Amino acid sequence: MAHIAVIGAGLAGLTATQQLATAGHQVTVFDKSRGSGGRMASKKVGDASWDMGAQFARAHSADFARQLAEWSHLGVIQPWQPQIASVSRQGVQASADDVRRYVGMPRMTGLSRHLLASAHHFEASTRIVDNRQLDNDQWLLEAEDGRHFDGFDALIINTPPQQAIPLLSHSPQLQQRCSTVAMSPCWTLLLATEDLPQLPDAAFIEEGPLAWVARNNSKPGREPGESWVLQASHSWSDEHQDAPREEVMHQLLEAFGAIFKLSEFKIMNHWLHRWLYAIPNNPLSETCLSDRQRKLAVCGDWCGGRSLEAAWISGRSAATELLQQLN
Ligand SMILES: Cc1cc2nc3c(=O)[nH]c(=O)nc-3n(C[C@H](O)[C@H](O)[C@H](O)COP(=O)(O)OP(=O)(O)OC[C@H]3O[C@@H](n4cnc5c(N)ncnc54)[C@H](O)[C@@H]3O)c2cc1C
Repeated sequence: MAHIAVIGAGLAGLTATQQLATAGHQVTVFDKSRGSGGRMASKKVGDASWDMGAQFARAHSADFARQLAEWSHLGVIQPWQPQIASVSRQGVQASADDVRRYVGMPRMTGLSRHLLASAHHFEASTRIVDNRQLDNDQWLLEAEDGRHFDGFDALIINTPPQQAIPLLSHSPQLQQRCSTVAMSPCWTLLLATEDLPQLPDAAFIEEGPLAWVARNNSKPGREPGESWVLQASHSWSDEHQDAPREEVMHQLLEAFGAIFKLSEFKIMNHWLHRWLYAIPNNPLSETCLSDRQRKLAVCGDWCGGRSLEAAWISGRSAATELLQQLN
């Protein structure tokens, strides 16, 4: 049995964790956040809660479709069948499709928690700032607060590429591959409002500041109060990356009101979040990166795509790679 460290409790790192644990290894997961999920995170303010990052999972490959069916069978995710609209210059139009969308239960992080249960230990609120291999080839990790963690036979790094670069000073080739991937930001406004029954459950928006809005409480198992997730487009978020928060909130609210012709509506709670590294613009074409000599793999959606499915594929690929190296 090997002892393996995973830096980053996103879907990729946790998928790898579960696969490595199933193969009989002991996995310790580190994340700088208090909880798991990464860009699949949920947010709670007062009585309201929202899926703040990934909104739903869908499958393009047969493998991921099977995985979604399995998680659904376990009750970790459930289908979500929103009334969807598309918003263009022509206005708001119903836009039914036959996409099977799944959401974590009772929020997106339900899925990350399920996967995390396979870890031997979760070291939350721990930002890893340095790592190196000792003379016995074992990995030593150093946290921002000065704590050290050692005794790891292998290492997986599951962070956005910009956050992986400082952790790869020993592997310049991998560092270089990471530096080629650019990530776009995404401003996200979460609202708890009075009931807005005239609106669709979700909408894809073609132009203007917003790209996607969704009624969070139309998803299964959510708190009943009316709650909305408003996600800005990546181009608008890029242009307004450093804009004052009040201005961002004002513009997103104005766009929401204008699209759905809402003159005024009551807001009980809100939260504005800027995802700095939201979506990869130019993902790599391999599913993970690895340094065989060092028993090191790097994974994340940005290796092969820009979705939960890509993260899952990358996590599986990193675990498979390490299992070969450990044999
Ligand atoms: C706003 C938004 C909406 C999205 N909507 C969808 C959607 O509807 N459907 C879909 O399929 N995909 C969606 N995505 C994409 C999806 O969320 C990602 O593809 C997926 O979650 C990426 O998972 P990951 O494991 O690669 O990385 P992440 O989820 O980014 O995980 C990386 C983890 O590493 C941690 N970390 C970073 N640096 C360190 C460090 N030094 N030490 C310790 N921990 C560290 C972070 O805290 C994080 O938890 C969306 C993304 C965003 C931002």
